[in-house]
This record gives sequence, C-alpha cells and structure tokens, in this order.
Amino acid sequence: MEIEGLGSVVAVNSELQFNRAVREGERLYYTTRLDSVSPEKITVLGTGYFVTFVMRYFSEIASGDQEVGELLFRVFKFKPSQVAAPGAAASAPAKPKRPAPGISNDTQFFWEGARSGQLRIQRCTACGTLRHPPGPVCSQCHSFEWEAVTASGRGTVYSFVVMHYPEVPPFEYPNVIALIELEEGTRLITQLVGTAPNDVRIGQKVQVEFHSYDEGMVLPQFRPVPNAN
Ligand code: ZN
Repeated sequence: MEIEGLGSVVAVNSELQFNRAVREGERLYYTTRLDSVSPEKITVLGTGYFVTFVMRYFSEIASGDQEVGELLFRVFKFKPSQVAAPGAAASAPAKPKRPAPGISNDTQFFWEGARSGQLRIQRCTACGTLRHPPGPVCSQCHSFEWEAVTASGRGTVYSFVVMHYPEVPPFEYPNVIALIELEEGTRLITQLVGTAPNDVRIGQKVQVEFHSYDEGMVLPQFRPVPNAN
C-alpha cells in the first residue's frame, strides 16, 4: 500500500491493557506489529489513512518470557486539506497559545515571583538547601519547612539541547532549551532566547529576563550575556 507523501500525522487513540501488574526490577521489551491500514478516508483534517499498530509488552524471564500487556496505537496519516483559498487570508486561524504551567500551592510563589520580575527559588529553612523545581519536601533533610529566596538571575549554561522536530506551535524552531546553573548553586530548565543554536556554549554566562505571554502568563527565560566569557 502506497502511503508515502502524507506529511501529517495525528494520534487518534491508544488503548493500553495489562494482563497482570508489573513489578519494579522486571526487564520489559516490546514488539511492534503493523495491525491494519484503513481504506482512504476524507476528514476535516485532510485525506489519508488510519494506521493501527499493536505493541506487545513482554517480561524477560529465564524460564520463558511472559507477555504482560498490549498497547493498541492508532494514528491518522494524511495530506492536509487546502485551507487557504484565494482571498481567505483574513480568516487565518488564531495563533495557538503557549501551554500554561500547572500552578499548585507548591509552585505558586515561583509564578507570582515571575510576574513581579523576580526569579524565586525554594530554600529549606531547616538545612538551607536550595531546590528547583519546587516541591513540598527537602530532599536532603526531609523538612517540610521552606522559604523563597530571590535569585540574582545570573547563571551559566550547564547543558542544553536544540529542538528541531517535531515543530509544535507556537514555539519557534530551532528552539534552544538549556539547563542553567544559577550562581546560587541550583539549576533550572529554561528557554534560551537571543541566541543562535550554533552559538550556545557550555559554561556561557546568561541572565534571566521575563516575558509576558497570553493571559498574563510571565515566564523566566535566559539570554546570553554579551561579551562575557
Ligand atoms: Zn533541608
């Protein structure tokens, strides 16, 4: 069956079944079988085929591997509908919004800090250990008591990745995601702005800045310090 040239794909449904509970320490592997390809279908997204895969999960056991579960995974591979009719530019779809963070009682201080232009980091009041991402308990001494301190916003690139694919709106690609080591000593993951992917260097000095997005969301992002290093 010829399904080449269908550049778009969307997940349709996924059904995971376990035959039994799996235990920590078991070594699992899976096999993938192309289960079926539907006849050509026309949908609002475009024209293409529903493709179903079945993954079977096995546990490695000396006396004979045992099947522990199965995942049915169906996608729609399609050629997108032509949406831009001549003269229809005015009805272009709204730009997708940036995903909003989930905010809990443990993380509220961080996002409130961002809205007031502060990079706030959790510090255990029992032993002084900084931690990020925020959480309810200190990993060093297990104390639940904490306070928030305002970081300087200065740091260095500890590590980074450059996202090329898949391109997910509204992000721009290539997208540089960095692990920043703050000068206070803890690290956080952030988007690097104002730099080309090929210019990013481990150890490069960076500085926080705050940018507003949809509906009052403010995100801390980091920018290389010019002429540093
Ligand atoms: Zn502690």
